[in-house]
Amino acid sequence: MHNAKAYAAASATAPLASTTIARRDPTANDVQVEILFCGICHSDLHQARDEWHDMMPTVYPCVPGHEIVGRVTKVGSAVTKFKAGDLAGVGCMVDSDRTCPECKAGFEQFCNNMILTYNFPDKHTGSVTYGGYSDSIVVDENFVLKVPANLNLAGAAPLLCAGITTYSPMRHWGVGKGKKVGVVGLGGLGHMGVKFAHALGAHTVLFTTSPNKKEDALRLGADEVVISKNADEMNKHMGSFDFILDAVAADHDLNAYINLLARDGNITLVGAPPTPFQIAAFPLIFRRRSFSGSLIGGIAETQEMLDFCGKHNITSDVEVIPIQKVNEAYERMLKSDVKYRFSIDMASLKG
Ligand SMILES: [Zn+2]
Ligand SMILES: [Zn+2]
Repeated sequence: MHNAKAYAAASATAPLASTTIARRDPTANDVQVEILFCGICHSDLHQARDEWHDMMPTVYPCVPGHEIVGRVTKVGSAVTKFKAGDLAGVGCMVDSDRTCPECKAGFEQFCNNMILTYNFPDKHTGSVTYGGYSDSIVVDENFVLKVPANLNLAGAAPLLCAGITTYSPMRHWGVGKGKKVGVVGLGGLGHMGVKFAHALGAHTVLFTTSPNKKEDALRLGADEVVISKNADEMNKHMGSFDFILDAVAADHDLNAYINLLARDGNITLVGAPPTPFQIAAFPLIFRRRSFSGSLIGGIAETQEMLDFCGKHNITSDVEVIPIQKVNEAYERMLKSDVKYRFSIDMASLKG
């Protein structure tokens, strides 16, 4: 074991603060990564404040962070994919059983024994996993991604969660040329959804409640912007969408969007509103429409997404902050006061 610098929450109500954690020394299959940037995901805040207590109670100290980009500093003797000096990414998962049908099919994110990057039992240390608000991390090479060298690294970090979360359902539901695609909500997830839908060649429509987001949505790649509170604007698009990505985490009316789907159209949820939805049956039945959810993506697909981003020069729009501003960033994130993701410059942890 060795010590690593980190920022951790000591309790559900304590602000994150500087601390030292123990990381394992790399085993034969491990890659040790010096973390350069870590994005701030809304999950980090939920977990740090124990807001998912019923499902995943937080173990303290909690080191959040699962949008990690850095440089390899050390590799184990059996590692073949990476060498010291390579760029590397780590997302929401650091391990799985690799033997179940989900793992064999490349869906590690649905493995019953998947290990999340933080606040999950760590078989190596006997403690819990610690995430990317740290100067370094040690991860099995099978869960480390290659980051294209042409990408801005601060903006590349959020691809590891926000990026794959929006890319995966679009690939699954066949988003591409000739398709009409909607994205609901222009936040950390939604702005990536707009970028991917556009880059995949779809006619891209952004739905928002805020008229002042229109200009930005067009800049990010939307072909049209619909103010979702305006019934006339919504009605114009009735029955016309092949796919809608719903990235809103607050309670909202799904039926309004289901009515916009064409025959066999799908709406996929990637936000997680707290209250169960009320969904009318007939709009689904009459046009064989479907409603589904999606969770990040498998490791192979995450690599595919990063390669796609390298080819199309796609990164997240980020505001880079030093780690010392993380608590302030959490408060601003709660007010949606960020365009569109915070990315922590981990060099700030060294000072
Ligand atoms: Zn996340
Ligand atoms: Zn598995």
